[in-house]
Amino acid sequence: NLTQRLAKVVKTMRGEARLTESNTAEMLREVRLALLEADVALPAVREFIAKVKEKALGEEVIGSLSPGQALVGVVQKELAALMGADLGPEASQLSFAQQPPAIILMAGLQGVGKTTTTGKLAKYLKEQKKKVLTVSADVYRPAAIAQLESVTKQVGADFFPSTASDKPVDIALAALDWAKKHYHDVLIIDTAGRLAIDEAMMQEIAAVHAAVKPIETLFVVDAMVGQDAINTAKAFNEALPLTGVILTKLDGDSRGGAALSVRHVTGKPIKFAGVSEKLDGLEAFDPARMANRVLGMGDILALVEEARKGVDMQAAADMANKIKSGGKFDMNDFKAQLTQMKKMGGMSGLLDKLPAQFQQAAAGANMDQAEKQVRRMCGIIDSMTPQERAKPELIKANRKRRIAAGAGVQVQEVNRMLTQYDQMNTMMKKLKGGGMMKMMRGMKG
Ligand code: GDP
Ligand code: MG
Repeated sequence: NLTQRLAKVVKTMRGEARLTESNTAEMLREVRLALLEADVALPAVREFIAKVKEKALGEEVIGSLSPGQALVGVVQKELAALMGADLGPEASQLSFAQQPPAIILMAGLQGVGKTTTTGKLAKYLKEQKKKVLTVSADVYRPAAIAQLESVTKQVGADFFPSTASDKPVDIALAALDWAKKHYHDVLIIDTAGRLAIDEAMMQEIAAVHAAVKPIETLFVVDAMVGQDAINTAKAFNEALPLTGVILTKLDGDSRGGAALSVRHVTGKPIKFAGVSEKLDGLEAFDPARMANRVLGMGDILALVEEARKGVDMQAAADMANKIKSGGKFDMNDFKAQLTQMKKMGGMSGLLDKLPAQFQQAAAGANMDQAEKQVRRMCGIIDSMTPQERAKPELIKANRKRRIAAGAGVQVQEVNRMLTQYDQMNTMMKKLKGGGMMKMMRGMKG
């Protein structure tokens, strides 16, 4: 916990009347570390620390507060402000200031929750007595159109059927025409995502945007993505005039550092948070609560951070053992392992890759097969519910189909991933105390 860590430093600074460069330096180092542990991207961390420094310096330490406590106060307030607290409550409202129908365009990578969130928004707007129409411009996966139809019907909104052989722009225009004729208040356009930034995807959604001129263009981002959020947000922000952000999967165990990264890049308000895979799992975004979440550091993240700094296979294996300490190896651990390998340049051919190339791969260009594979596996795990991740044995045919649809893969791929998990699980048992190298060799074979 950040506050606990700070508490140590706080003691050494009693009896000072002002926050100064020297009495805040050590504390700010802790804050910086905590934010990095929460997976906030480095440029966003830098900006934030600079802002806090500026606000804190010269600040008087009032009453019984120690300088440390005073600084924690500044940090909390600034973080909430950066999350959007200073934008005021209306920042999270949707705008309808358009000749009806008000058009909402959903943008974001594949698997982040666009289709689910379209259903959630339709439900939310219906509860405000709006007549809502949804349409899918995702012509790449036939299942995507059916998925949107299903969630739309579940919430009792209207659905405009599209044909996968049509162009996204034509689909959007046809739906708009229909919505006008049938007096819908809102038209929500769901779009196709890709696993990574892709020029064709950007051009396609930009064309849809130009054709229908939505009043809201919402960037949907998965709170679990961590560092990658900054690159994705940058790409979408450059391709489209975004009006807001929706942060999904906040029911997961991520610290939500993505929130800060996305705010840093786009400057746009985060309007909603997705808090479950169910269609009522949508909340107005709460900047103050988010700030507290990002600041509340978990021990596991601290260990991951340790491993990241060490880039030492044995240390990583020790970490894995510490996390586990005899416990069950579940999907969350599996994903942590995958992510760890990715970070350390693990998996077969990746060891010799340079950091620069690695970043390029993450941004989508020249993506290595193995890297891609890890991403897909992570995508599959992301599509599981927390319960499924904790107890993978729950995953039977029905759930497999839902997970596959959510991750945009074939059911066979989910099966393959589960087999790999089983192998890993067996190995974890056998190798109790064994090194990461051994585990990695096992992954290959
Ligand atoms: P899309 O590819 O962007 O359209 O993503 P989907 O809407 O198909 O969602 C991908 C997966 O994420 C599905 O399994 C959803 O159930 C799940 N999902 C979406 N939003 C949330 C959320 O807020 N919480 C949780 N736990 N799961 C979510
Ligand atoms: Mg979708």
